[in-house]
Amino acid sequence: MFSQSEKYAVNIGLEIHVQLSTQSKTFSADSAAFGREPNTRVNVISLGHPGTLPKLNSKVVEYAVLLGLATKSGIARNFSFARKNYFYTDLPKGYQISQDKEPVCLGGFIRIVDEEGKRKDIRLTRIHMEEDAGKSIHDQDPEFSKIDLNRAGVPLLEIVSEPEISSPLEAYHYVSEVRRLVRHLGISDGNMEEGSLRCDANVSIRLKDAVQLGTRTEIKNLNSINFVKKAIIKEMKRQEELIESGAAVMRQTLGYNSTTDELYLLRSKEEAHDYRYFPEPDLPRFVIGEEYIQNIKKQMAVLPWEWQDRFSGEMGLSGYDAALLAEEKDLAQFFSEITALTPHIKAAANWMIGPVRSLLNERKCSLSELGIKPSQIARLVEMTQNGTVNLNVAQQQILPILLSGVKDDPYEIAVEHQWLKESDTEKIRSALLEILARFPDKAEDYRKGKKNLAGLFMGELMKKTGGKADPKVAMEILNAIVSEKKEER
Ligand code: ADP
Ligand code: MG
Repeated sequence: MFSQSEKYAVNIGLEIHVQLSTQSKTFSADSAAFGREPNTRVNVISLGHPGTLPKLNSKVVEYAVLLGLATKSGIARNFSFARKNYFYTDLPKGYQISQDKEPVCLGGFIRIVDEEGKRKDIRLTRIHMEEDAGKSIHDQDPEFSKIDLNRAGVPLLEIVSEPEISSPLEAYHYVSEVRRLVRHLGISDGNMEEGSLRCDANVSIRLKDAVQLGTRTEIKNLNSINFVKKAIIKEMKRQEELIESGAAVMRQTLGYNSTTDELYLLRSKEEAHDYRYFPEPDLPRFVIGEEYIQNIKKQMAVLPWEWQDRFSGEMGLSGYDAALLAEEKDLAQFFSEITALTPHIKAAANWMIGPVRSLLNERKCSLSELGIKPSQIARLVEMTQNGTVNLNVAQQQILPILLSGVKDDPYEIAVEHQWLKESDTEKIRSALLEILARFPDKAEDYRKGKKNLAGLFMGELMKKTGGKADPKVAMEILNAIVSEKKEER
């Protein structure tokens, strides 16, 4: 994928800002919704007018604790906020409320899995809460920059990793995992294009056996997972060339132009920010109780890597299939409901990864909007696996009818359109005729209405067909035979 250096090793530490999907902002009742008319979600608190006071949105703490529990971080029993001071036109208050000395979560890890299924736990330094700044827009007016303050005060969690990510590809997996996790937890939409997930990459290289880390640079505001990987590759090359030419890497903050695939200097160490953090005087220290944490723990759903382990472990799917199915919470949940109804796990996975996922992509909708039930897919899987209908008919004909919502039983649809495989129904029919002939008395009783005798015939049929006959098909045929016989008399 890239020429990994023989001589140097890379250390990467990522800082990821996750925008939380709360209704209101971190410290005010302003709406936190994305994409509204500029400067319409801005009250006096967002603007930091004198005399106004921030009030902490409890959802923000809940989401932080949820993420902390999912990453096995230590949840602080006491946390506080700090002011991070700087001047910028999109920051009317002159400071951001953030956390400094007492963040809400310390430690923990994100587990990444590479293409070969190898795992690595990337340790986290901390997760802290902060409010976002406004947004400067430079590309709408030829002369002026525009400012939209709707984003000012929107809640963020910053996830800081230890510098132990050791390749651009690992960084790629790490960001993907963070995105998948926050989506599963339902705390953010993780949409990088809309800026819900922003990543700063700290990069340094060192001689392969050197213990001490090299001087790092920081690449700011990478807004796609691919750019994270590409920018790091670029920066590793740049640092290697510098060192090889006898120069030294300088502590710098860089930007990445994704159109030209080039890095550019934002500021060097001399111009580095001094934020003069101090405790936020308008907010108290907060205390988190044991019961509060336990309650959040109870609500926690299955985590993406737990789904993935289940799918590849006990269910025996490939790492690739397992990862695809665990990507979205809905998909994982839906698939696991199917597997409760049919033993044909691999076939069920193929249905999900193939036709179901293409439908989701085509229609750009969620599984619940698609309007199909796990039981219906399970039935289709059964019908194709036991040869009641062929796969093409199931996917091209029956599935669309189910989606249209006119009929909801796949088997009935197949019967109505005469899509049942001929050979199969014929085999079952002749087997049943033979069985009924073997038990003439019982057959007569059944005809007269002793319906519980069906179990006997079905049992015999299963013995005869090695369990391959579809019970529902067989019942239909049995009843058909019985009513024919009645008419004959
Ligand atoms: P700052 O506040 O200046 O951003 P931090 O100590 O918070 O500094 O570190 C930010 C990030 O930089 C962390 O993700 C950390 O892992 C990473 N980092 C620190 N030192 C190095 C290094 N030598 N090489 C690569 N990454 C590093
Ligand atoms: Mg930083």
